[in-house]
Amino acid sequence: MRYIDSHFHLHHLAEKGFEIPSMMQRLQSDGFIGGIDIGVDPLDMIKRYEVLKNYPFLHYSVGLYPSHAETESLHIILDQLEDMIEKYSPHAIGEIGLDYHWDFSTPERQQELFILQIQMANKHKLPVIIHNRDADHDMLKLLKEHRPEYGTILHCYSVEDDLSKDFIALDAYLSFAGNITYKNNNHIQEAAKVIPIDHMLIETDSPYLAPIPKRGKLNTPEFIPYTYEYTAGLRQMETEAFSEIICNNFKRIFPPLLKK
Ligand SMILES: [Zn+2]
Repeated sequence: MRYIDSHFHLHHLAEKGFEIPSMMQRLQSDGFIGGIDIGVDPLDMIKRYEVLKNYPFLHYSVGLYPSHAETESLHIILDQLEDMIEKYSPHAIGEIGLDYHWDFSTPERQQELFILQIQMANKHKLPVIIHNRDADHDMLKLLKEHRPEYGTILHCYSVEDDLSKDFIALDAYLSFAGNITYKNNNHIQEAAKVIPIDHMLIETDSPYLAPIPKRGKLNTPEFIPYTYEYTAGLRQMETEAFSEIICNNFKRIFPPLLKK
C-alpha cells in the first residue's frame, strides 16, 4: 500500500527525542511516498530545514499558529514570515487559523492574523493549511469573505455541525487525523462517510493524536496506515483503492517534488 501523510511536525517529534533518520528509512521501505511537514511559527523554519533538507521529497509549510495573535508586534512576525517564504520557498502557509478553545487572544485578533496570512498565501500563490478549533462558523464566514486562491486544507477535521458541504463548496480539502478512530468522535466519522472522496486527505498530526490501537502513544507518520484502514472501512472500500485516491488528492495540491 502507498500512503501520504498530509500533516505532521517532524521537529516536535525530534524534540521529544524521536530518531527521525531511522524512522524515515522505515517509512520509505514501507510505502510512504510523501507528506507535508507543518510549521507553527516563522522562525521554526530555520531549525526544521536542517532536518527537511535531507528528505527532498517532503513538502513543508511555514506559518503562524493562532497562539501568536497575542503578540504585540504582529507586523514584526509577519515580516519574519515574509522573509522565511523568500528564503526557503515553502509549499504552503500553515498552520494558520482560529482556536477558540484555548484562551490565546480575542477572536478579533486571531481573525486579523488569519486574514493577513491568507492574503500572504494568495500573494505568494500558496495553499493554506488551517487549524480550526471551536470556531466552525467564524471559520466558514472568514473563508467565504477572504478566499484562499491556491488551495485550502482544513487539518484535523472535526467540525461539529453539518458544515462539511459548505467547506467543500469553497473547494476546501478536509484532512482526517487519528482521532477519527476514537469511539466518541461520531461526528467526524459521519463526515468522513459522506463527503466527496476527491476532497479527503489523511494525516497523523504527529506527534499528537495517535490512532487506535496506538492511542496515548507518541504518534508518528508510521501509524498512518491505521487511519487509512479505518477510514476506508467507513467508506466500505478496500484500503488500497482508498489510499490511491487520497494520494492523488494530495498530489493535486502538492505536485511531487522528485521524479520517480
Ligand atoms: Zn499540526
